[in-house]
Amino acid sequence: MAARGCPVLLNSFRDEPLDTLISRLDATSGSQLVKRISQQLFERAKKVIPGGATRPFRAWDPYPFYGKKAYGSKLEDVEGNVYTDFWMAHGAEVLGHLHPAVVKATKEQCELGFHLGVCNEWEVKLAEQVCKLVPSVKMITFNNSGTEAILHAVKLARAYTKRAKIAKFEWGFHGYIESLHTSCYGPAGGPDSAGHDPLSQKNTVVLPLHDASASHKAIKRRDLACVWLETFPSAYTIPEDKEFVRGLREVCSDTDTLLILDEVVTGFRTNAGGTQAEYGVTPDLTTFGKALAGGEFPVGAVGGRSEIMELMDVGKHPGSQSVYQGGTYAGNSLAMHAGYEATKVYEEGSMYPRMNGLGERLLKGLEGAIEETHANARVTGYKSTATIHFLRAGAKVTDARSLLLSVDKEMEKKYFKYLLSKGILAMTPSLPHFYVTFPHTNQEIDSVILATREFLKSNLG
Ligand code: PMP
Repeated sequence: MAARGCPVLLNSFRDEPLDTLISRLDATSGSQLVKRISQQLFERAKKVIPGGATRPFRAWDPYPFYGKKAYGSKLEDVEGNVYTDFWMAHGAEVLGHLHPAVVKATKEQCELGFHLGVCNEWEVKLAEQVCKLVPSVKMITFNNSGTEAILHAVKLARAYTKRAKIAKFEWGFHGYIESLHTSCYGPAGGPDSAGHDPLSQKNTVVLPLHDASASHKAIKRRDLACVWLETFPSAYTIPEDKEFVRGLREVCSDTDTLLILDEVVTGFRTNAGGTQAEYGVTPDLTTFGKALAGGEFPVGAVGGRSEIMELMDVGKHPGSQSVYQGGTYAGNSLAMHAGYEATKVYEEGSMYPRMNGLGERLLKGLEGAIEETHANARVTGYKSTATIHFLRAGAKVTDARSLLLSVDKEMEKKYFKYLLSKGILAMTPSLPHFYVTFPHTNQEIDSVILATREFLKSNLG
């Protein structure tokens, strides 16, 4: 009868007569009820939110669980089930949920107002902090999401170079602005969404994955404003080759093309300076998001060379000669304050050896599980991020491209659900990968490895 006094349960079953509810509560261990609450929420959601979820991939079959609380490495659903969270707010959390530094900033800001709507000291402090941690960033400006940052970066690149075309790589995801939302989930194709302006991608060049000679050839035409790059593409977690990145940097410099590094996911994840520090590459512009505000608040930022960033300075470039930036919530004190405190933790840096070590334990463990079971799968990743790719029978994998073209989507979904049944939340049902954060533990990592080994044995071994 433990659940009888629980207002959450009773409330969510209020359409059921009390006597049948109570006998059902008595007769179950709770797992049935667990499903019912989330199921009911999802049914209600589908009536008022298209597809039932604000991000489609958060709604899996037959219905997703609804989160209620998050702390450290754990996520609790509305029924009180606790999961080890590797989804980690779409990779935004690096410090884990509710890190004390971020909580302290939030509490302080509670007393002062979250959004003052005027200039505030925290945007200055956060800007100084990012410029200190990421040397290629001489000036920076803030907005509310990675996508917004990308939108601003594209305009800066076009205004600076006076060229219209922009380039991205196949499979690269850079938010969902129309010009870049193409070929994000596969080889060169059309728009990845309905409703685009049919001309929106007229000036977008999609470069073949990992193909240095084709990319150099395209850049050497000298008509590209910028090339978008993720040194460690977060969507499929196959790190770029250092030589390849260096080559791109060189050709972009030789042709006055801006190299824009998208560090929305990778920024502050493996070290305070981002992947650009590890690759030894100096981009012209960098976009940030996610971990910049401690992973807890909406944020985006674009930063880079002063002479490019200054195109946003309306004092120097009046009216429509400047690159317009807007956003009611841009630079809001809550996100900026939390971001400042989070970046102080990143700067101190002692979290990284632990996090990266855990990530490496996971990568090795997953590889071991595949070897042991002879499963047709591959592991890719970098430090605190890992992905397991299940391959279709008979697939021949020779490189990243053939790997990504051989993925068994149904097996991914099955794996995601299997992990859920073991209390492990990977991100996402399609393309399950793992974001390791500071509060994760060896035991939690080992639980993923163990569950994966069991899954491989029974499904692919
Ligand atoms: N760039 C990359 C590499 C991303 O993975 C994402 C989203 N995950 C974005 C940009 C867009 O960021 P946001 O979701 O904050 O708009």
